[in-house]
Amino acid sequence: MRIPLVDTRELVRRKVARIDSRLQPQLMQLFHQLALRDPPREDKSRWYPHTISGRVHHFARPLTFTPYASARPCSARCRFCSETLYESNRTGSKAAALRPGPRYFDALGSALRVLRDVPLSYSLSGLESTDDPDWLCQLLDTLQSAGDVGPAIEGSVLYTNGAGLVHHGERLLAALSDFGLSWIEWSRHHDAEGPNDQIMRFRLGQAVAQQADAEAAIAATNAVLPVKLVCVVQQGGIAQADDVWRYLSWARTLGVRTVIFREFSALPSTYQSNVTRRYVDSHRVCIDDLLASCLDSARFRHTLEPEVLTHGYYFWNARWRAPDGMTVVFERSDYGTLHACEHTGLIYKLVFHANEHLCAGWQPDQHILWRPDDLP
Ligand code: SF4
Repeated sequence: MRIPLVDTRELVRRKVARIDSRLQPQLMQLFHQLALRDPPREDKSRWYPHTISGRVHHFARPLTFTPYASARPCSARCRFCSETLYESNRTGSKAAALRPGPRYFDALGSALRVLRDVPLSYSLSGLESTDDPDWLCQLLDTLQSAGDVGPAIEGSVLYTNGAGLVHHGERLLAALSDFGLSWIEWSRHHDAEGPNDQIMRFRLGQAVAQQADAEAAIAATNAVLPVKLVCVVQQGGIAQADDVWRYLSWARTLGVRTVIFREFSALPSTYQSNVTRRYVDSHRVCIDDLLASCLDSARFRHTLEPEVLTHGYYFWNARWRAPDGMTVVFERSDYGTLHACEHTGLIYKLVFHANEHLCAGWQPDQHILWRPDDLP
């Protein structure tokens, strides 16, 4: 769907705040348009009513659906991995710990039929789906088979650390391309091998850890499907304006046209102080600080053209355009806001978990909309 744009001068005039950033006044001056991905509650055109098991739900527009990939443990062990963050007040299974059973794809097919005609896009994420090419290919087949009796598909994105695209690139790219994937978001948190592997800690035998293999795979993938590089900024990684420029130059050499710099999600106090949380707290690079130091440089101000600000339901980002057409995005999100949205009863996100629960969120035993036993 086309995301409605709001004139930022109008927001300033009405003193309406939209971006949770201390740079908001400056950003509102620089950007003339704000894309409202977060649907206003009163705007009926942004909520799709749909009945599941006799109950009417209201689905946000736009909406994403994730068949959560957890067929095997991830090939990386990123120090900040959100799959290893736990909330003290949560009960039930953890999505990353569940493995799909033999009926998984049949149940997914049924869930897709339950969502018949709901407008959404596929967001293929979870653990690393490319680690198990058989699982990923069967997933794509299942999604494709839903056809006219499934949801109304508006697009599809694959999130990856690239591991399987190094080992099974030819097969996976053919399948993803046949599927009609819109683009790939490829996580690589530093432009050099050593610091990147300090952060991502690929398991033994993963060729993607090596710079030459990763670069060859990114370039080969980008020749088939657009690759957006995702760099989660952090101490020991990309932390300063000079690092940003160097990372962008590196991305250019691979033919990549979009780079996203993302802050660790803000974590409410309900998240346990485990090793991941302590890493996130001690290595956080605030996107406001990084963006402010970029904006201080004449090079950034004179080279990059502000394009659009986006306000999502638990994130915001600022998108800039370089003279050669490269898109550069700075992004921040907040898990507290994400959970608050999950509790509204409105549907902001759909996840199909390995336990075959279709949920309105990332917890496999909460906000359950449908499960196979619900079939008549
Ligand atoms: S690649 Fe993703 S799922 Fe795997 S460890 Fe890193 S952040 Fe976690």
